[in-house]
Amino acid sequence: MTRKPVEVAKRRHTRQVMVGKVPVGGGAPISVQSMTTTKTADVEGTLAQIYALAAAGVDIVRCTCNQIEAAEGLAQIVPRSPVPIVADIHFHYKMALAALEAGVAALRLNPGNLRKPNEIKLVAQEAKDRSVPIRIGVNAGSLHPELYEKYNGATPEALVESAMRELELFGEVGFDQVAISVKASNVPLMIESYRLLSETTDHPLHLGVTEAGPPPGGLIKSTAGIATLLAEGIGDTIRYSLTADPVEEAKAGRQLLEALGLRERKGLDLIACPSCGRTEIDVIKVASEAQAALEELHLPIQVAVMGCVVNGPGEAREADLGIAAGRHKGHLFIKGEIVAVVPEDEMVEALVREAQKIAEEGIEARLAAADPKAVIEANKDRAELLLDKGDDANNSSVTIEKIRRKTKES
Ligand code: SF4
Repeated sequence: MTRKPVEVAKRRHTRQVMVGKVPVGGGAPISVQSMTTTKTADVEGTLAQIYALAAAGVDIVRCTCNQIEAAEGLAQIVPRSPVPIVADIHFHYKMALAALEAGVAALRLNPGNLRKPNEIKLVAQEAKDRSVPIRIGVNAGSLHPELYEKYNGATPEALVESAMRELELFGEVGFDQVAISVKASNVPLMIESYRLLSETTDHPLHLGVTEAGPPPGGLIKSTAGIATLLAEGIGDTIRYSLTADPVEEAKAGRQLLEALGLRERKGLDLIACPSCGRTEIDVIKVASEAQAALEELHLPIQVAVMGCVVNGPGEAREADLGIAAGRHKGHLFIKGEIVAVVPEDEMVEALVREAQKIAEEGIEARLAAADPKAVIEANKDRAELLLDKGDDANNSSVTIEKIRRKTKES
């Protein structure tokens, strides 16, 4: 019997906007976004990055449109891009109009930087005429000075009011194809701002921790903010803002959604034990080599690398495929069932080979093709390892004896 997957949260209802062919909000799969770091005027360089981002799993890519050369670049990029392109607009409303002319799928406007109501309404009118959505991208660091003063700083109320004011201006021209973000680099502020925003409006929300910095800190901050909200059912599209190759942002966004069960697995999910005194191999090295080799296959598969056969196959029984180290041998298992025993130096190779066969033939067929002698060999190897290492591979009994002696002395 197939088990019903555990759901992380019931998603809050939002209305839907279309970013090109990608639906955002209204129960659509949560999309992953990233932003190019090239000059948008460099058409080939920008397209190369967009293709790399699409291969890493992004659904939508944003490019800056800060000058006329960038808008002209967009006119060439948009028709050749595999994913919808959003133009990022800060100070110049004419750049927004130029980007619309270039055919972008959406605009991002920063209300803190583009402030004149007549210019904002002009852009909204043009977007409405072309059925192109706009994201109101409020940022704590560039909040409208008037709101900063009113709230004595960038508070959740200030960020949400900034978005609502812009929404009102859009409303004056009858434009409502709008997504909203209220990003901050301070994670608690970001979380509280989105919570308040989701209580205030049903427009789809774009989540992100702005200026999160380089990994691993940037990854941790972004995950803390985005995952907390997703686990509350808040958020329709996400972006990791890392000081790194944007492909890292794309991978992180994708992996977060897959880890939370919010998107189907598209690539590899490698799980590995942290290793301990029982292992006879360098688990970190084998896991990294396996990760690199298996990623190349682009298969939606969960693979386990376990440091020993004592606990490995059992603990990783949910994985599609795995390997556990025995005494100079690797025990290859599928869904926790031993299917082969291979020499230690062929562990990674065996994983790659089996992953390919699983992709071609399916799990059931590969289980049926298991080597019948493998279980006997694996059991013998496991028994020998247990005999060698005993039940107390980390020598905790010696430590416990020392503790007892110490506490008796005092
Ligand atoms: S007991 Fe085995 S599987 Fe568990 S951490 Fe130690 S080496 Fe890894």
